[in-house]
Amino acid sequence: MRKRKKWRSKKNIKKIIISVIIIIFLLLLAKFNILNTNTVNTISSTLGFENIINFEEKSVKENTELIENVSKSIKIEPNKLNILYLDVGQADSELIIYKDKTILIDAGNRSDGELIVNGIKALGISKLDYVIGTHIHEDHLGGMSDIVNSFEIGEYYMPYNTTTTASYYENLLESLSDKQENINKASIGDRFSIDDITCEIMCVDNNDPDDANEASIVLQINYGAQKYLFMGDAVEKNEEERNWEDIDVLKVGHHGSDTSSSKKFLNQILPEIAIIPVGENNSYNLPKETIINRFENIGTKIYRTDQDGTIQILSDGNSNEVIKIDVSFDGN
Ligand SMILES: [Zn+2]
Repeated sequence: MRKRKKWRSKKNIKKIIISVIIIIFLLLLAKFNILNTNTVNTISSTLGFENIINFEEKSVKENTELIENVSKSIKIEPNKLNILYLDVGQADSELIIYKDKTILIDAGNRSDGELIVNGIKALGISKLDYVIGTHIHEDHLGGMSDIVNSFEIGEYYMPYNTTTTASYYENLLESLSDKQENINKASIGDRFSIDDITCEIMCVDNNDPDDANEASIVLQINYGAQKYLFMGDAVEKNEEERNWEDIDVLKVGHHGSDTSSSKKFLNQILPEIAIIPVGENNSYNLPKETIINRFENIGTKIYRTDQDGTIQILSDGNSNEVIKIDVSFDGN
């Protein structure tokens, strides 16, 4: 009898250990956005853990708040060039609006995709004329399949890549194929225009470099006397590959890391304004102090999404107005 009891309690301990492992595993899946919280909730309740793991249906609440906030706080002036450097935490995404046309560069992390989609819709936009995935890293392409699934897309650009098997990338390829949307392989010197705005691909590497950052599509937009450069996560090697003109507003490469923004490059472009997309207290300790100092030494005014939120540039082609907006698209 005693022996049997012992065996039973051993069995219970085993059960408890397995339960704890499953619970930790589910929490990790949710934490790293491998599964969304709604899916984790479903699995949790199927296994009878709904009292332990039951994430708030935050996506509905978060999305409603975001839509209200975007409608209230972001004012687009269609006859001016509007550039929104979205606060997507430790990730990257810019939305460009001019007259009735739009360009989206990157789409944040996986968990940001839905918020970006709803934010863009809240601005009354249903078509993205040009969508650019600068390179395959998750902090740039994670939310892109949500974008492709949610909007009519004119042209889609992305560097060539064969090595990534990450689920966000496979999902994106599937979404593009479902939409029958072709990937335009960008080449250096490719141009397109929106009314009197010209856009030019300044860098891209379609040879699948070991460091995916080196593949980054770098885009320059010219409007009147103003020039805007979007670096993706391009590194020093890319900066050295060509000559650069004076730039008015720079979207800083690689979140202010010291792999990018070399002295030589900054001395060529001498930006008036630099915008750094970066997450609050990020584990990479970005932006690097040395990079901030480099910009300060050449008199560049720095804005950062972790401190300034979403940043809007409004331009009439002669000057730039900078507006800080307290709206976050960070789904983490
Ligand atoms: Zn990045």
